[in-house]
Amino acid sequence: MVEASPLILIIEDEPQIRRFLQAALTGAGYRPIEAETGKMGLAQAATQPPDAIILDLGLPDMDGLEVARQIRAWSSVPIIVLSARGQEKDKVAALDLGADDYLTKPFGVGELLARIRVALRHAARTEGEDGQAVMVVGDLKVDLAARRVFRADTEVHLTPMEYRLLTTLVKHAGKVLTHAFLLKEVWGPANARETHYLRVFMANLRHKLEADASRPRYLLTEQGVGYRLADE
Ligand code: CA
Repeated sequence: MVEASPLILIIEDEPQIRRFLQAALTGAGYRPIEAETGKMGLAQAATQPPDAIILDLGLPDMDGLEVARQIRAWSSVPIIVLSARGQEKDKVAALDLGADDYLTKPFGVGELLARIRVALRHAARTEGEDGQAVMVVGDLKVDLAARRVFRADTEVHLTPMEYRLLTTLVKHAGKVLTHAFLLKEVWGPANARETHYLRVFMANLRHKLEADASRPRYLLTEQGVGYRLADE
């Protein structure tokens, strides 16, 4: 039996962007379906449950954030939101509502497909709950079972907080994590607003793990949103 290629629901009102997404996704072997309003998107998602959803935040009939909220009420399908440059607040709100990632318009095919790969991989992993014991990206290796971190085969010693921050990023490798999410996971809910903790610890981690801390290859800043650990 041939496994069906992943079904991707596009909820976007702009025809050019729909056409672009349709072509890019079809070219990569996915099966795209389209909805041009939030209502149609919600109906599609319910009748033909997709493997991932690409959701524009600026829809004519309802707020994209509301669409995300309604989908999250019953489904954990990966949601990648599309937003215009400068809408950092909306992106953060969407991510905090449970969206998985975002793309800022205009974006390229490579970036789009990378986001989809990460989203589908995470969905599969969450289903199977079989987290990887060892994670390798470039010359960075994190052995979660042994609690050891290596850079170019040399062991790097991290403080417990640095290690906790790094493993939180590793568990969600490739995916953007908001400041609030990282603070809550690493420092606890009482510290969700202390973004300076993050800046300090991220600087320490970069210093220890990056060849050039000022031009990070692994620990990437998502301006105004949070951080992402590169996974390719
Ligand atoms: Ca739009």
